[in-house]
Amino acid sequence: MSDVAVGLDVGGTKALAVLVSRDGEILDELRTSTPHDAEGGAGAATGKVLAEQLVTFAERHSLDVSSLPIGIGMPGMVRRDGRLAFAPNLQTVSGASFPELLRESIGAEFVYMENDGNCAALGEYAWGAGHGVENFVMVTLGTGIGGGIIANGELVRGQSGFGGEIGHMVVEARGTLCGCGGFGCWERYASGNGLARLAFEWATEGRLAELTLKRGGAQNVRGEDVTLAASQGLEEAIALMNEVAWWLARGLANLIAILDTGHFVIGGGLSTAADQLLPSAREYLAELTFGYDKRPPIVVTPSGLTVHAGALGAAKVAFDRQP
Ligand SMILES: [Zn+2]
Repeated sequence: MSDVAVGLDVGGTKALAVLVSRDGEILDELRTSTPHDAEGGAGAATGKVLAEQLVTFAERHSLDVSSLPIGIGMPGMVRRDGRLAFAPNLQTVSGASFPELLRESIGAEFVYMENDGNCAALGEYAWGAGHGVENFVMVTLGTGIGGGIIANGELVRGQSGFGGEIGHMVVEARGTLCGCGGFGCWERYASGNGLARLAFEWATEGRLAELTLKRGGAQNVRGEDVTLAASQGLEEAIALMNEVAWWLARGLANLIAILDTGHFVIGGGLSTAADQLLPSAREYLAELTFGYDKRPPIVVTPSGLTVHAGALGAAKVAFDRQP
């Protein structure tokens, strides 16, 4: 039984690698840009980057890659057999099998794949803001919305391994087009992209007059302008953050109705604006949640592991699944 595992969190822009002890302590960390060239077949370029990160850890810490438990979190539909069925934001890796690629390139024998949102949920459950909570949902507010569902202490992987894709829950029938090809998905309203889209819409309609003037045009108003201005007390920006918070609460209320969960851990890039989002989201939950007053108080809390949630969770996957 290995004392350490490696967790790899592969995103659209960077691949984060952590070397982790059994109690969740990060012993070493590497960050590399994610390549986007398709040369060599599905996942070949990305597989090379991951192999280099693993070899670096092995050399620095005198580890044997062939016996090292390795977990990989990927933004996409990861099948139970470890193959990546579809990665809409990382097209060059769609169809890749990283366990095979890493066995062939560096002799790694214990490589396990999981969806990145599912990894984040497992990381928070083991060592973060979901620790000891048998029923909770991880909600990752990044470019889109990722997530993972812990029910009765177990990750909901689903029939094929695709469970927990909460960002593609439809919250607005006939709403705006999503990257998945559907319309009105939650991630079009309550994510970083959702904020940017709403900011442009509001600016065009004249509802962000001060910010539009300051930025020199509606097309220049970015999501981060809104979060910053809201934190400084600008009314129009606070109003837009409240709108995003309402959409956040709308999706959470749906999840409560289905799962009867009472605990949400909010992570991802947009969660840095937690102070502007979570208090009003909690208030909206009171009006949007089915049977709100019959339930125990609902907890909506920021991630405990922040940027490391996915990588730590990937390491946890490796610890748990290595025979
Ligand atoms: Zn979608």
